[in-house]
Amino acid sequence: MNVANETDGGSTRSADRLYRCEAIVLARMDFGEADRIVTLYSRQQGKFRAIAKGARRPLSRLGPHLEYFSHTRVMLARGRDLDVVTGAETENAHLAIRADLDAFGHASHMVEILNRLTEDREENAAVFDLLLRSLRLLDEGVDPFHVTRHYEVMLLGMLGFRPELYRCVECQEPLPPAPHHFAIALGGLLCDRCRGRAAGGRVISVGAQKYLRALERGGLGATIRLEIDESMRAEIEGALGAYLRHVAERDLGSLRVWRELGGGSPEEKP
Ligand SMILES: [Zn+2]
Repeated sequence: MNVANETDGGSTRSADRLYRCEAIVLARMDFGEADRIVTLYSRQQGKFRAIAKGARRPLSRLGPHLEYFSHTRVMLARGRDLDVVTGAETENAHLAIRADLDAFGHASHMVEILNRLTEDREENAAVFDLLLRSLRLLDEGVDPFHVTRHYEVMLLGMLGFRPELYRCVECQEPLPPAPHHFAIALGGLLCDRCRGRAAGGRVISVGAQKYLRALERGGLGATIRLEIDESMRAEIEGALGAYLRHVAERDLGSLRVWRELGGGSPEEKP
């Protein structure tokens, strides 16, 4: 690996402070005169923020390697508040995403929900790989609808929020093939007997349930060739979007613990 290195690199002490990682740029903001603070999702350490000094200067060696959605190899030095990006080299800039408004919108959504649903420095290589694979598919021009729904369903599962699509989330009875009520706050479908117990939520058609189950079981390969019309696309996107918003607005730490303990809805906790 040939990373542009802007540190002196001389003493043992500075070598201890340095580390490398492979990351995707989730967000960035201007800071100070010419610096940039970037939010990275790395394979090795999950999400964290770092400062890239001088990254906005025209001749910066860092700036071009820290664009949105870029898959980049970075070298960092531990800092007091934020770690400092000392070198960066782009592995894949995913340039086609930036040239296509639809792909760009979907990629922005993907990095934003990852930013909102994860905590700092929680390593999860599977999540990194999912994001990288999904961005690559968008870059290659695969239908953003299918790529993004697959990403959402897989991400929810990897983070412990898999929606329950097979059994009633309240009484655990297997669900017959029929439209069912999706209880956002409970994280799954309800049978006809239990549907009165959850306020809010929405009815999910048989077709939309089939699509979501196919995604979960067979991945993108199982759904990419499915012909689904605009109204079903809107239904699936709306249901997942509402559930994602719900999850993102929760206190993530406490919700995860509650779920691992086998609880249902955190609202039911005394
Ligand atoms: Zn039930």
